[in-house]
Formats: sequence, structure tokens, C-alpha cells
Amino acid sequence: MAAMLVRHLSFPWFVGVLRLTINYLDLLVRWLQQPQIILLKEGTDTSQGKAQVVSNINACTAVADAVRTTLGPRGMDKLIHDEKGSTTISNDGATIMKLLDIVHPAAKILVDIAKSQDSEVGDGTTTVVLLAGEFLKEAKPFIEDGVHPQNLIRSYRTASFLAINKIKEIAVSIEGKSLEEKKSLLAKCAATTLSSKLIGGEKEFFASMVVDAVLAIGNDDRLNLIGIKKVPGGNMRDSFLVNGVAFKKTFSYAGFEQQPKKFLNPKILLLNIELELKSEKENAEIRLSDPLQYQSIVDAEWNIIYDKLDKCVKSGAKIVLSRLAIGDLSTQYFADRDIFCAGRVTEEDLLRVAAATGGTVQTSVNNVIDEVLGSCEVFEERQVGNERFNIFNGCPSGQTATIVLRGGADQFIDEAERSLHDAIMIVRRALKNSTIVPGGGAIDMELSRYLRLHARTIAGKSQLFINSYAKALEVIPRQLCDNAGFDSTDVLNKLRQKHASGEGANFGVEIKTGGIADSFTNFVWEPAVVKINAINAATEAACLILSVDETVKNPKSESAQGEAAANAMAGRGGPALRGRGGRGMRRR
Ligand code: ADP
Ligand code: MG
Repeated sequence: MAAMLVRHLSFPWFVGVLRLTINYLDLLVRWLQQPQIILLKEGTDTSQGKAQVVSNINACTAVADAVRTTLGPRGMDKLIHDEKGSTTISNDGATIMKLLDIVHPAAKILVDIAKSQDSEVGDGTTTVVLLAGEFLKEAKPFIEDGVHPQNLIRSYRTASFLAINKIKEIAVSIEGKSLEEKKSLLAKCAATTLSSKLIGGEKEFFASMVVDAVLAIGNDDRLNLIGIKKVPGGNMRDSFLVNGVAFKKTFSYAGFEQQPKKFLNPKILLLNIELELKSEKENAEIRLSDPLQYQSIVDAEWNIIYDKLDKCVKSGAKIVLSRLAIGDLSTQYFADRDIFCAGRVTEEDLLRVAAATGGTVQTSVNNVIDEVLGSCEVFEERQVGNERFNIFNGCPSGQTATIVLRGGADQFIDEAERSLHDAIMIVRRALKNSTIVPGGGAIDMELSRYLRLHARTIAGKSQLFINSYAKALEVIPRQLCDNAGFDSTDVLNKLRQKHASGEGANFGVEIKTGGIADSFTNFVWEPAVVKINAINAATEAACLILSVDETVKNPKSESAQGEAAANAMAGRGGPALRGRGGRGMRRR
């Protein structure tokens, strides 16, 4: 009976376990046979969805906040101290963005648009970052409420298209004016750009200088034809424009003092060869059977150099410039024949001299014909501050200009150079496209009003989005006020009223009194292309950031990790923005 019971109980139990095991084994085998899909490496970090969009927006807003206070004539400057210990003081959006060590992948897009605005139009770099930041900030509540980013993107694109068309409509052309008139118009554009810079106090002085420089190079596209030479010391007002080329006196050998330092209508020979006594015996192996023959080798070396120098003199040139060294023998030789020479001229300067004087750089002194020599009206070596400068004035092709900048500290001159670069770009742009819009936030207010009106005619959610876009545009006048210490709510209300009345389209912030004023009559002008480009780039950047819903971070390879560790050891990671942009990102 007991045995029966055991059989009865144990048999199905045993079979059940066996079956189960077989089933599991079967599953395991099948699973092992199946091809596995491995998408990402182990350790890959991904974050996705709404939270990712919001975190990207936060990072971009943080970046925009960093440059916010630099906007406008009353904007503050930033002092950036980098890991190499050099300091830069700047008001230029692109420069600041470049120097900030931004690590957040989405926020880097803002750096790129600032850079592209800088290379494309030269000015409006802070504007473009601010606008992009504000577009995103306006989009954030919608995203948080569950609006699909694509809806926002579509509306933003429409709004930007409408805004740009409106700018083209409003813009005033300066085409067909006389040269004098054009000059003063361009100077006003340059002055508007400069007014927000460190050298804003002397904006008229520099604006007319910049306009002269740009007009001097004519239609040539090469920006490097306008040279900017920085000489620390002296006053800003001691800066001057050379209608030609100027460069710092190069290193020179004994004998230089006896050379004449001023010429009228000299011929100029440009060389790319060394005029120095060469020890040829070091470059070649020479076998002599008789010690007396040694003298003939030394003589040959002297003959080679004398032959070269003779050819230079015979060419009729009074000035000899070379990219390579001109040694003491040659310096003395030229001095004896009343010829001026300068060796080790930088390539850039030499090419500018060539372009200005109409000469061609020679790689040999054989067969120097008259056509390859350049000329200018006056050449002189002059003292500027405690530097000596070689100055070529009145060049025939007239296609170069050099601005010699003076001023106190190095950082100051550096910033002045960047500011002049902005102004030069603006004048060139205005000259080419020749349409301008009122600045000081006037154009932004007008666009905002226009878009708000337009939004009312649209049904559906898009109305809200376009309205937000319109609101975002107001950031420019608001920030101009905030930076100047005015009550922005008050000024913006006045501006809205004025623009709504229909005849205040040109009214913007009056930066001196804190009220509102007609930017056109106040000569706060900007080339239309600055605004068009800024709105375009900012919208694109905002849309790009909105359209990203997943960030995948690959695990660092071993060597990359080692590098990162080395960098950390070297004291990197100091700048405040490093890591700060990563707010909200999930990290491992
Ligand atoms: P960005 O790097 O974008 O060019 P800026 O610091 O140069 O930034 O500031 C440009 C803004 O300042 C423009 O919107 C321009 O219209 C405004 N602005 C310049 N000069 C004046 C002025 N005299 N009065 C009012 N606004 C001005
Ligand atoms: Mg500017």
C-alpha cells in the first residue's frame, strides 16, 4: 500500500520537473540560436523624450543669459580668463561664445550660429544668440504641456519667413546716392555698430576711418586688404589710416642706419629669396687637392651674392623687400647705393604691398623687368609710438588700406581691433546690399507687432506659437533697456503703443534718456542683412534644438578616457559653463 502511494505520488512529480526542465532548456537553446540585436555599446548613455528637449532648452537659455548683458551701447563687457592665463575683454558675442568653453552638445549650436553670423555679416552676434535663446524659452512651456515640437517648428518657420519678408519691405535703400551722401550713410551704419563697443566714445572718428578704408579697397572681396596694425600706447585719437600699406619695421642689420628713410615715387622690388652670404661649403661636399683652391670657393660665394645684389640695384628699385632675411653684407651694400631694404617681411604684408603697389613677388633676381616692380607716391619710415613703421602711401592700384590703431592696454587695442572688424564688415555689407533698417529695437518691435496682427488671422494652435515668436522678438528692445538701467516694462509699453498707432514703425529705444525715439532720425541704422541673417539663423537654431529628442552619448574609449583624465589634471574644467550646460542631462 505504502509502495503504491509512493509510486502514485512521486511519478508525476518527477515527470513534471523533467518536463519543465526540458522546456526551459528548449527555450534556452532557441534563444541562443536567435540572432541578437545589439544596438549600442555597453555603457552608452541615452536620454530621450520631452525631458531631453526641455533640458536642451535650459542649456541654451543658460548660454543666452551669459551674453545677455553685452547687448547694445550700454551693454557690459566680459572679461574672459582662459587656461593659458591670457585675458580677453570683449563685447562681441562671437568672441565671447568662442572663448566660453561650452561643453553641452545642444548649446554648442548657439556657438556655431554666433560664429556663422560673424563670418557672414560681421555684426549682430549677440543678437542672434539672444533671439535663439528667447525663441526656445518661449517654446518651453508648450513643450512641457505636451505640444509636439514639430507643430512649434512649423509655426516658427512660418513666422520667420513672414518676418524676413517684412524686413525686406520696410528696408530703405541707399542706392543711387552720390558718393558723399553714401559715405555719410555708411558712416552712420558703422557708428551704430561701434556705439556698443569699448571705442564707442570715438565712434564718429573711427566710423569715417572705416568707411574710407572700405571705399579704398573698392569691390575687392579680400578682407585682408584692410590691414589693422596695433601699436600700444598713445591715445585712441592718434590712430590713423594709411592709404596703402604700413607694417612694423622688420629686424635689420648694421648699415641700416645709413639707408635713406624717405622716397618720392620709388620703384619697389619684392623678393622671396635670401640675400645673405651663404656658406655653401656647409651644404656640399667639396674635395680639394690644393689648399690654394680654397680661396676660389670663398670667392665664388662672394661672387654669387654680389651678383644678386648687383642685379637688384640694376633693376632700378629704390626699395627692396624680402620675405626672407637680408643679411648685413646686403644691408651695407644697399646703404652705399642709397637703397632702402627690409628683410623678413611677413607674407601677408608682402602680398599686400604687392597688391597695393602693383608689383609681383620674385623668386629670383635674374631678369627683373620693369613690370614686376611696384611703385608708390611716398615711402617713409616713421616713428609711431615707440615703434618704427614702414609706410607706403599713395599706391597706384589703391586697393589696400591700413589702419594703425593706438591705445592703452593690449586688451583694449585687441577689443578695438575686433570692433573695427565688425564695423568694416558692416560697411562692406551695407555697400553691397545697400538697404538699411532702423536699429535700437525699432525693427524688432515692428516685426513683433506685424506677427501678432498676423497671428490673429490664423485659427488653431499655430496662433499661439506665432504669438510667442512675436513676443520673443521683443527681447532686443527689452534687453537694450535693461542693460541701460531703464524700466523696460515702461519703455516697451510706450513702444508698443507707438507702433500700434501705425505711424511709429521707426521708433526704438532712445539709449541716452530712456525714452523712445525715431531711430531713423537718430541715425541708429543697421544694414537689413544683419537682421535678416540673425532672424534666419536664430530660427533655424531654435528649430534644430527643438527637433532633437534624443541624445546618445557613446561610452568613452580607453584612450579617450586617459586623455580626459590628463586634461583634468592639467587644470581644465575651470570655466563656469563647463558642465553647467549639462543641467538636466542624465549622466553616468
Ligand atoms: P551685436 O553683437 O548683436 O551687434 P551689440 O552689442 O553691437 O550686439 O548691440 C547691437 C544692438 O544695439 C542693435 O540692436 C542696435 O540697434 C542697438 N544700438 C546700437 N546703437 C544704438 C543706439 N545709439 N541707440 C539705441 N540702440 C542702439
Ligand atoms: Mg554690434
